[in-house]
Amino acid sequence: MNIHEYQAKELLAKFGVAIPAGHAALTVDEAVAAAGKLPGPLYVVKAQIHAGGRGKGKFKELPADAKGGVRLSKTLDEVRANAADMLGNTLVTIQTGEAGKQVNRLYITDGADIAKEYYLSMLVDRKTGRIAMIVSTEGGMDIEEVAHSTPEKIRTITIDPAEGFQPHHGRAVAFALQLKGDLNKQAVKLAGQLYEAFTATDMAMLEINPLIETTDGKLLVLDAKVSFDSNALFRHPDILALRDETEEDPAEVEASKYDLAYIKLDGNIGCMVNGAGLAMATMDIIKLNGAFPANFLDVGGGASKEKVTEAFKLILSDPAVEGILVNIFGGIMRCDIIAEGIVAAAKEVNLSVPLVVRLEGTNVQQGKDILANSGLPIVAADDLGDAAKKIVAQVKKAA
Ligand code: GDP
Ligand code: MG
Repeated sequence: MNIHEYQAKELLAKFGVAIPAGHAALTVDEAVAAAGKLPGPLYVVKAQIHAGGRGKGKFKELPADAKGGVRLSKTLDEVRANAADMLGNTLVTIQTGEAGKQVNRLYITDGADIAKEYYLSMLVDRKTGRIAMIVSTEGGMDIEEVAHSTPEKIRTITIDPAEGFQPHHGRAVAFALQLKGDLNKQAVKLAGQLYEAFTATDMAMLEINPLIETTDGKLLVLDAKVSFDSNALFRHPDILALRDETEEDPAEVEASKYDLAYIKLDGNIGCMVNGAGLAMATMDIIKLNGAFPANFLDVGGGASKEKVTEAFKLILSDPAVEGILVNIFGGIMRCDIIAEGIVAAAKEVNLSVPLVVRLEGTNVQQGKDILANSGLPIVAADDLGDAAKKIVAQVKKAA
């Protein structure tokens, strides 16, 4: 789960991290009022969308030479004009894709005087089984570009979870950022605060780009992007409350209500599978047969009739779907129960596209009989290869 920049910064501030003062705003008047509470003389109006690259982004509704989604403003009138330019308009950045994202919230911050920009991110490094802090003296710009052209300017410090964060990790971060004197001390402290925030809230990723040194010698988090491990959200109701569903794909939001793992893709063959690995294999074999999956969908181990019905509805809510492949292995679930679920769901949603079902496992024959006697035009398949061939042929035939 991702959150907005202002939410990420407010969260980090609770762990003692230094951030510029700021207030979120939903309307132009709120934006001006928010700026009025700041000391000035420089304000920054920042579009809040779940995507980076806002500063260099372009608004669809504004002329091509208009400024992007991060604007320095010198007066309250400028704040008003900039807020009016952004709210309700669609910001396209390198991370949003062509469709862009509508700006519904702003963050008005106290403008900082930047002496230098740095980069700092954290993630769970699966290879080492540790939390990694990735830092660079080249902040504020595209870190992928830095990694590509000057990889030696990126340093990684990993922290053994058994040992936990130690002062030497902080010193390694400060050293990699080439900070001296008081700035060095601030960096050591900051690294510890970030590690505490990361582990205490079960973050999956934290990216600060840029981390800045101000002209008066302070380290400040100027931009923050945070995502959390969704599997740990049950223990953080306060963080779950920060979720902004308007930033997410509507079908994926619907899926999460029923605990279905659904990801929309670009093809025309809907997939309903139990188990993430089997779902991946199903998508692969559809491709091998010359077609493309319309989605990834894992209904999980204990797929009930209700879940199967919701899964069908989700798949069919995508207008690109021209056929559905159900691939279920009845291990925990019995095949006859699954077959009943599929039949009931197909009837309830008035299934109008070809449906190929491959069932395997406990009570498979009873399951197949239920499908065959359902009166529905369900095509049974013997194995995964057969199933993929049949659904691709069905969709081609219908086209
Ligand atoms: P992003 O474009 O989505 O990554 O948004 P950022 O928050 O990183 O802002 C983009 C750039 O705007 C930063 O790299 C800074 O150069 C500039 N910027 C943002 N806030 C301030 C500020 O308070 N003062 C100054 N001088 N520049 C800022
Ligand atoms: Mg940034």
